[in-house]
Amino acid sequence: MTAEQTAPAVSGEIAALTAKPYLPRGQGRSYGDAALPAADHRSLNSYRLDRFLSFNPLSGVVDAEAGVTLHAILRIAIPRGWFLPVTPGTMFVSLGGAIASNVHGKNHHHCGSLEHFILEAEVATPAGHFVCSPQAHADLFRATVGGYGLTGFITRAKLRLKPIETARLDCLRLRASGLDALFGLLSRHDAGYEYSVAWLDTLARGRKLGRGILMLGNHAPLRGEEKSAALEHADARKLGVPFALPRAFLNRPFLSACNRAFYGFSRRGATREGLEGFFYPLDRIRAWNLLYGKPGFLQYQCAIPDPRGEAGMAAVLVYLSEKRLGAFLSVLKRCGEDTVMLPFCKRGYTLALDIPFRGEVTLRLLRGLDELVLGYAGRVYLTKDARLPAETFRAMYPESGEWMDTVRRYNPEALCNSRMAERLELWRR
Ligand SMILES: Cc1cc2nc3c(=O)[nH]c(=O)nc-3n(C[C@H](O)[C@H](O)[C@H](O)COP(=O)(O)OP(=O)(O)OC[C@H]3O[C@@H](n4cnc5c(N)ncnc54)[C@H](O)[C@@H]3O)c2cc1C
Repeated sequence: MTAEQTAPAVSGEIAALTAKPYLPRGQGRSYGDAALPAADHRSLNSYRLDRFLSFNPLSGVVDAEAGVTLHAILRIAIPRGWFLPVTPGTMFVSLGGAIASNVHGKNHHHCGSLEHFILEAEVATPAGHFVCSPQAHADLFRATVGGYGLTGFITRAKLRLKPIETARLDCLRLRASGLDALFGLLSRHDAGYEYSVAWLDTLARGRKLGRGILMLGNHAPLRGEEKSAALEHADARKLGVPFALPRAFLNRPFLSACNRAFYGFSRRGATREGLEGFFYPLDRIRAWNLLYGKPGFLQYQCAIPDPRGEAGMAAVLVYLSEKRLGAFLSVLKRCGEDTVMLPFCKRGYTLALDIPFRGEVTLRLLRGLDELVLGYAGRVYLTKDARLPAETFRAMYPESGEWMDTVRRYNPEALCNSRMAERLELWRR
């Protein structure tokens, strides 16, 4: 699908451009239809709004336009001893897009999603321009953060960074032979490590179900070296995927062999590593999506809250294994609580799966997975989704009514509207 695109170069142009139907767009890195404009709407792209307005190296507060990418923030922040307080698995997203998805990272169980670090955001809504924060126009703030662009266009925001002493992480990689062992390791190391994430072999069955590699990390402290040297940081070299992998590769034996090799040969034990390898492994492979061949893949990310988080995740893995819905990349994380109006994470677990797309059969199996997740009071992450049925969405997100009431106060005529909002029938009362 193609849509007309406009990109304001200065925030002064926003008022005129937001008078006609549109949808805000950042770097277009959301996997589903959250960043696709609704019928007869244009994409209003933030990429030319890429200026830093201020950065205080003492407090770590950065004020930037919405099109500034997390990569650009890291380039100025790391050498000065600051890091993103929460980061998704790619740094090539815009600040506005990260806010609109209320992104979470590998430290969600410690500090929650990005919402807690946004001091204020300026939003051009159809009802007027507002500077909102947890204190001022708090309803707009809580509906805009994690609001998928439906309240209006975020033009700039203030973000509080976190201090670091070095550009390195102290990491520990541990192997778990099955799901119970993995849950045990996660709960044992939850308190001691800020970051934790587990890669799972979703093709393993029986006693090996849920086997995986747990990766833990803490920002490394200085060890006697000069701070300026310890904060030196250069972008990692990138490899590229030259062409779409032939479909014949994406069969079960091939995926199984990849998983077995990763499980068997992954580095284990304690290491000191650069930030990019731990936080952004996919950013080092240009066009990594071509690995899924021309039919591509669907990302499915669900969260299941405690006390049924572990049982729910076990049931999801059994379903994947029985239905042979093997995923290339499967990532399990612990979650804390989101407090925005449309929260994705609740204290429990989240699992993200890259599932090769095989047409209707994949869609049917994922509908079955939706029902299973819903049965455990879980929900699907909207920024990664393009297929959740409207009724299932309403059952998963009982808060959506209150959120849309607020969205309607600022955007009564659906002037900003997305394909996602149409598919999920968000404007239906
Ligand atoms: C490799 C990879 C790893 C990822 N890992 C994670 C992860 O660990 N955790 C996580 O939470 N997410 C993750 N994501 C998802 C990604 O962080 C989000 O989809 C993010 O919103 C993308 O930002 P963007 O700038 O590309 O926004 P887009 O994809 O362009 O837009 C996303 C949404 O934000 C809205 N939006 C964009 N700009 C604005 C604006 N200026 N004002 C108002 N609304 C706006 C859009 O309308 C849309 O609804 C990952 C994505 C990739 C590709």
